[in-house]
Amino acid sequence: MKDQTVELLKEYGINPTSQRVRIYDYLASGQGHPTVDEIYAVLQRDGHLFSRATVYNTVNLFLEKGLIHNVKVEANETRYDITSAFHAHFKCTSCGALFDIEMEEPLMADTAGFRVDRTSLVFSGQCPVCQAKAAEV
Ligand SMILES: [Zn+2]
Ligand SMILES: [Zn+2]
Repeated sequence: MKDQTVELLKEYGINPTSQRVRIYDYLASGQGHPTVDEIYAVLQRDGHLFSRATVYNTVNLFLEKGLIHNVKVEANETRYDITSAFHAHFKCTSCGALFDIEMEEPLMADTAGFRVDRTSLVFSGQCPVCQAKAAEV
C-alpha cells in the first residue's frame, strides 16, 4: 500500500481503505483509461477478490470527489482517467485502445453567454502499432 496514495485519498476526503488504495494505484499505474470491468478483471487476476460492485462504487466515489474523471468515447462505455490537466484522446479504431494526446485546451471563438465546464476532444484513427501491423500484411 502506497503512503502517497493514502495521503492523496485523505486530501480528497476519502477514507483510504486498502481496497480503495489498490484501485487508485491501479488507475495510476497506466495510461489505459480502464472501464470498471477491466479494473475488476485485473484486480481479480492479481488475486484481489473485490466484488465488481466494490470496484464500481469506489470508482464512483473517486469521481464524485473529483479525484478522477470519466471519459466517454462510445455511448455505451465509460472509461476512467486520472490525468486532470486538459488533454485530448485518440481512439484507435483497430485495437480499440484510447491514448492521451497532449494539447492546449481549445477555446470557443465566442462563448455567447455559455459557460464551459468541461471540454472533451477525441480523435480517432489508427495507432502507430496498428499502422505498422497493417503495413506488414
Ligand atoms: Zn491500435
Ligand atoms: Zn486521458
